[in-house]
Amino acid sequence: MNLSYLSSDDTICALSTPAGMGAIAIIRLSGPDAIKTAAQYFKPKRHDFKLEASGSHTAHFGTFGTEAGVIDEVLITVFRAPNSYTGEDVVEISCHGSVYIQQKIIEVLLQHGVRLAEPGEFTLRAFMHNRFDLSQAEAVADLIASNSESSHKLAINQMRGGFSEKIRELRARLVDFASLIELELDFSEEDVEFADRSGLLKLLATIKTEIENLKSSFALGNVMKHGIPVAIAGKPNVGKSTLLNALLNEERAIVSEIPGTTRDAIEDTIAIKGVTFRFIDTAGLRHTNEPIETIGIERTYEKMNQAAVVLYVFDITTASEKEIDDAIADIRMQLEDPDKQIIPVANKTDMLLEAPHSFKKLVELDTLFVSAKRNENINLITERLLKTAHSGETGDQTIVYSLRHYEALTRAGLSIESIEKGFAENLPTDLIAIDIRQALHHLGSITGEVTTEELLGNIFGKFCIGK
Ligand code: GDP
Repeated sequence: MNLSYLSSDDTICALSTPAGMGAIAIIRLSGPDAIKTAAQYFKPKRHDFKLEASGSHTAHFGTFGTEAGVIDEVLITVFRAPNSYTGEDVVEISCHGSVYIQQKIIEVLLQHGVRLAEPGEFTLRAFMHNRFDLSQAEAVADLIASNSESSHKLAINQMRGGFSEKIRELRARLVDFASLIELELDFSEEDVEFADRSGLLKLLATIKTEIENLKSSFALGNVMKHGIPVAIAGKPNVGKSTLLNALLNEERAIVSEIPGTTRDAIEDTIAIKGVTFRFIDTAGLRHTNEPIETIGIERTYEKMNQAAVVLYVFDITTASEKEIDDAIADIRMQLEDPDKQIIPVANKTDMLLEAPHSFKKLVELDTLFVSAKRNENINLITERLLKTAHSGETGDQTIVYSLRHYEALTRAGLSIESIEKGFAENLPTDLIAIDIRQALHHLGSITGEVTTEELLGNIFGKFCIGK
């Protein structure tokens, strides 16, 4: 990967609206020559006006073109450094959304010393000019990709900097600590201790607890970003695929009359009242010797272990209450988490002659009675799922949802443990100092106080061009 652009100050341009035709397209320019270059091809409606003399945050109407002719009527918005998204001079050209016009304008700009922006380069420049830190820049990409109320909430909170502040605060405390230790190193001949050990140990414990709290929010963050995993389990032919389809409201899983045809796990997501659920249709839970199905059953348990909630579906017309009770107890025994929420779902109630409430044991188990095929009472399932989701809500707690941040926190936590161990074992201060620097490094990598070109390339390379 050529990362030389990371430190360039060329003037760059890109289409910032989606590729293809739209009512309006926006071409963005950023860099020292942005205003000068745009001014060369812009003819303002007001003849006495010059774009180069325009103030920051002003919009101007006119035509854009060369001696060969006018390309389009455009609106040009000017932002002057440092008060722009990138922190540089920025010009946004709003033109009509024809692909031909977009290309023509970009072509003209490229012929005059402007270069096409790399993916995420506008946001990279914003980071380089301290408009925001690295975790906030990452949140911009997440905000663009957010597709539900919860993933949007996570991204917007992180973009607004609450998380960054928390990490910077932790790091600042550790920096104070580190400076005392480094001071001791400078005077190592004299064997002095500037840093009060018990105070230091207390500080380390506080930092460790805060790191642990942030780390434990990751499971929730993951769920908020990617959806709550819900496994649909049960014997073959009880109607799992039909139920999934009813939930998804469209025919995605294969529905078939032959037992055991849903061999592989299928995943699909839906948003119910702003909460994303990830449904996992599993292979049937039938005891079998057929090798493919045995793998399927192992996978079913794997999927149930990964899920936050298990919908245990059974055919109410063929299963006895005792069988269901035993089956659920059996599943619970095989799951890693014995407290996992298992929701019994009695399917095919349309074929039932008795009323559901006559199944006393099932009612006790809080069973939901539905008919997947007739789409009856499916809302009972979605309501129960929503209740589960809301019980995990956190208010204003800072939530970690990026794997990169989680890993950096884990490494920082390990370094803190090494520091504690170093003190406990009376290791020489210079060895302890190495772990302190490591912890500072890992915390700093989250906000970008410490970066490498490779890290920046990885993060910004995932952005779209034009952002
Ligand atoms: P799976 O093996 O558990 O995924 O079961 P399927 O969804 O493939 O369904 C098996 C059979 O049961 C199909 O013939 C479905 O049409 C039928 N079925 C599913 N749900 C219902 C229901 O609510 N009522 C009735 N009468 N039949 C159903």
